[in-house]
Amino acid sequence: MFEKVLIANRGEIALRIHRACREMGIRTVAVHSTADNDAMHVRLADESVCIGPPPARESYLNKAAILSAATITGADAIHPGYGFLSENADFAQMVEEHAIVFIGPTADHIRMMGDKITAKQAAASAGLPCVPGSDGAVETEEDALETARAIGYPVLIKATAGGGGKGMKVARDESELKEAWRLARSEAKASFGNAEVYMEKYLQRPRHIEMQILADNEGNVVHLGERDCSLQRRHQKVLEEAPSPALTPELRTHIGEVAREAIHRLGYRNAGTLEFLFEDGRFYFIEMNTRLQVEHPVTEAITGIDLVREQIRIAAGEPLGYTQADIRFEGHAIECRINAEDSQTFVPSPGRVEGYHAPGGLGVRVDSGLYSGYRIPPHYDSMIAKLIVHANTRNEALMRLRRALDEYVIDGIKTTLPLHGRLVRDTDVIAGDYDVHWLQKFVDGM
Ligand code: ADP
Repeated sequence: MFEKVLIANRGEIALRIHRACREMGIRTVAVHSTADNDAMHVRLADESVCIGPPPARESYLNKAAILSAATITGADAIHPGYGFLSENADFAQMVEEHAIVFIGPTADHIRMMGDKITAKQAAASAGLPCVPGSDGAVETEEDALETARAIGYPVLIKATAGGGGKGMKVARDESELKEAWRLARSEAKASFGNAEVYMEKYLQRPRHIEMQILADNEGNVVHLGERDCSLQRRHQKVLEEAPSPALTPELRTHIGEVAREAIHRLGYRNAGTLEFLFEDGRFYFIEMNTRLQVEHPVTEAITGIDLVREQIRIAAGEPLGYTQADIRFEGHAIECRINAEDSQTFVPSPGRVEGYHAPGGLGVRVDSGLYSGYRIPPHYDSMIAKLIVHANTRNEALMRLRRALDEYVIDGIKTTLPLHGRLVRDTDVIAGDYDVHWLQKFVDGM
């Protein structure tokens, strides 16, 4: 097992990784920008190294600075968390070339899944059903028009290098398509430095259902059930739950087995998530995330498995030590992503947290680096906390979530706590009756 792990991230996820390491008797190294000198994960880590100024490009995305920090401190392994360098194949490769273990899959698997076209091709060859769409990139406007004619409107143009819901444009007819094709390409170029786009049938009322996978180096693969992440704003997840209110046990077993088989065929190792759209009883693969996900705690709650610990064990070469038959799903879990944003306009609201009180009690978990007096820097993602509840049934989980949200106090800044307060009281949410487009209409109507 490793003696020292460097955490190449910040915020709640850096803290989450630190906690797993501590419980495994592993020492931790925090790296941080000058904007994060007072961050909780920096305070708690055994050692910390400042790697640059506030802009992420010069600190949390600075590969050379992070590798130097790992070398100087003698870290055996690097955990990248999510975002930043977590899906950067070149970084994973550099880490391994420095004889440091990258806690994640191989650079080749990251590369394959990071390009959405090669990812879909790999998924299809491994037996996963995909959303009908273009065969590879859509290179010209003519090409776009022809493909759309073949698959039928409405269609969705997506960036090959996409992520975070950026670079996606819907087109309902030919004139919209010409505009969407141009816009998507320029947005993709601006966001990802790569203008390449592809096309998919735009599904009208799908749910976003993803399967959590764990695979060790010996070919053992388990799935830890699904997460329903259909409540999204601008294609970004806001509230997630496990299990999905839309799946039957038969459907869960079916998609779990298909996912397990695909991961096995791909020779993938470590934690990963296969994302699907689910509509009218059918699953369509959309992408794979080759890292830990923000919403991993709901899976931890219903399975009792510590996903970060498992990632570290697998990276250290340990076998899983259990099989699919050992995995048990207990109760229902829901996670709210709490952002430092106005809950109506979603304008970011960084600044000083004047007062802080996190909820507690049975079945309540808060993953956050916040404390009273902490100053949220304006340079990074606005998610500041995750509130996760677990209970025997979905109804009990919703009641527990209401109670926990009512207890939560974050003074001095604006947060999306009021939005979550409204969501848990909404009749459609209570009924579990929503698709990926539901929340956008809900906030547009607020
Ligand atoms: P990103 O990597 O940018 O997050 P994804 O491919 O994972 O992009 O899609 C994000 C979200 O966009 C999905 O969860 C879903 O809500 C919506 N979406 C993606 N593809 C489609 C589609 N073909 N039809 C309808 N909605 C889609």
